[in-house]
Formats: sequence, structure tokens, C-alpha cells
Amino acid sequence: MVRSRFLARLARLRERFDDGGQDGLLVSDPANVRYLTGFSGSFCRLVIGPVGVFLVTDRRYAESAPEEPPVYDLVVASGARYLEAEREAILLSGARRMGFEPGAISWWEVRALEACIPRRARLVAAGGQVEELRRIKDDLEIEAIRFAVAATERALAHVLDEAEPGMEERELAAILAADLRRHGEGPPAFEPLLATGPRTAIVHARPTSRRIEAGDLLLVDAGATVSGMAADMCRTIVVGADADLLQGRAFDIVREALDAAIAAIRPGDPARQVEDAARRVLEGYGYPLRHDTGHGVGLDVHESPRLARDSTDVLAPGMVLAIEPGLYVAGWGGVRLEELVLVTAEASCRLTRLKVSPTLTTG
Ligand code: ZN
Ligand code: ZN
Repeated sequence: MVRSRFLARLARLRERFDDGGQDGLLVSDPANVRYLTGFSGSFCRLVIGPVGVFLVTDRRYAESAPEEPPVYDLVVASGARYLEAEREAILLSGARRMGFEPGAISWWEVRALEACIPRRARLVAAGGQVEELRRIKDDLEIEAIRFAVAATERALAHVLDEAEPGMEERELAAILAADLRRHGEGPPAFEPLLATGPRTAIVHARPTSRRIEAGDLLLVDAGATVSGMAADMCRTIVVGADADLLQGRAFDIVREALDAAIAAIRPGDPARQVEDAARRVLEGYGYPLRHDTGHGVGLDVHESPRLARDSTDVLAPGMVLAIEPGLYVAGWGGVRLEELVLVTAEASCRLTRLKVSPTLTTG
């Protein structure tokens, strides 16, 4: 069953090879390799051609036998032999115009391959083909994301509950990191962001030794993984006190922007309208949009589609989107909320559920 899933993905990928005569793809992005084969080693090249599919990797992975016959022939090589093995695989795959992923391979490697493959085979830049397939999640992927969300929510609920004045940001971050591992499967989807007080105005704040004071904002943005699929969500609360007037107002505005953005999700519509909806709310209150409103989530925590003003992506059922408007004032702080939603045939449904204590906000 798993095997048939990967064979179907390979078949769909082959349909995407363009009319320019591309008949193969050298896949070097690890998430793309995992998507197409289930192989999750850190170093690998997948060579797909008209007559064969080869996975070139090093000795560490030689014995990790899959439960089912894999969809590729394994080629194990290391050190200086690696490039040679890659070249062999390209020739055996039968491809004459082999695409490569320009964003996931070094200039050196492409030049070295070009120099050693015979003239009848050529390398052509062909990025984004697997990423396009990955945008639409199947039922198993959505299920894995749901589990990753559940793990993230347990971790977030715990850390928000533990937070109290006097603690250092990095103490909380350590609890969070342990929880994401304990409840998820494998490493977190990304290095969690955690900030308190005025530091919450920094969009990508890493935890420091700053001690939390009563009445501080606490912003936590994190995601666990399950079966390689990521979650990504953010909550902001006030620690050790009720929200003051400004904080309460900021929560209300961000929540309004979030609801507007989610309400704007409709399959068939341009992704940028989701950002437009959030921006209209924030700018209506005099606050700029400081970062994209959202992004796709899957094997990578940031993947296609982009929910941004200049995005040309179109929404479709099966996409899983992170929606994350925020309001930031330097020297005061920031409030960001992030939810994961699944685009459905009609609109969307939320995958994240965690509610933070309403007594902490005016909402
Ligand atoms: Zn996030
Ligand atoms: Zn995000």
C-alpha cells in the first residue's frame, strides 16, 4: 500500500516533465526524496529516468532495509566514489535530458556531473516540480499533521501553564523543546521561537536569559513533527496578570485579522487574497503587516503555497496552510497568533484548537 503511494507520486511527477524534452529528474532536496520514496536519510540523490529509478546514498543507510520493496534501486557509495555513482545512475536511468533542482544542489556538483556524463545526456534546470505535487496533501499526510498539531498543542499548553514571573526565557524554551520531542516523533519542525516583554516585537526572537516580569507578553511559536510532517502554531499570552488595555486591544486586532484571513480562504481563489484580508484589518487600525500572512506546511515547515502580496499561487483543496498575522510595536512588544487550516472543497477547516485562557485577554 505504501509502495503504491510512492509509485503513484512518481507517475504524477513524470507527467509534469515539460514539453522541452525533459525525461528525468535528479532530486537533491531531502524532503522531495522523502516524498517520492519514503527514504529519510540526510544525504542522498534520487535519480529518476525513463527506464530506472536509483537512490544514491552513503554506507550509513546501506542496511536500513524498508519493510516493502522500495521504488528505487539502491546505490551505496561514499567519499570520492559518490560523484561516480551518481553519474552511473544517471546513465542507467536512460534519461537524455535530466532535470536538476537548482535550489538544492551546489554549482560545483552540477558542473562536475556535466563534465563526466557523456554528451548524449544533458542536465537542465527544473526546480519546483516535486514541490508543486507536495502542496496537495493526501489523507495519510493530513492525519500525520493532525497528530503533529496534537503534540504541539500539548507542548504549548504545558509551557504556557508553567510560565511565571522570575523564570528565564531559556528555562521555558527547554521545557518546550523537551515536550515537542516527547509528544512528537523526531526533532521539532524548527527551532522554536520564544520571547517575552518588549522582545516579543522581534519577529524571529530566540530565547535569552531575560527574566519574565508580571504583566509581560509571552510569545511562543513552535511545531512538532510526526512521520516527517510538521505543525506550526503560535500563541501569545500575558504572564502573571490580566491583559492591560493596550495588550487586550492588540489581541483583539490580531484575532480579527486572523479570522478575516481564514474567512478569505476559498479553493480556486488566489492565495494573495488571504494576505489582503489580514492586511486590511491591520492597516485599518494603523499597523503594518511586518511579514507574510502565511505559508503551506508539510514535510517542510515553510513550503508552497505562499500567502503573500506577490504570490501567484492558487488555493486548492488538500492544501494545509499556516495563517499567522501579528502586530508588533518596537519597545512595547508584539502579539502573533498562528493557526493551521486545511483547504476543503468549499472553504477551510481549522486543524489547531488550543485556546489560551480568556481571562488573560479582553476578548
Ligand atoms: Zn510559526
Ligand atoms: Zn508559520
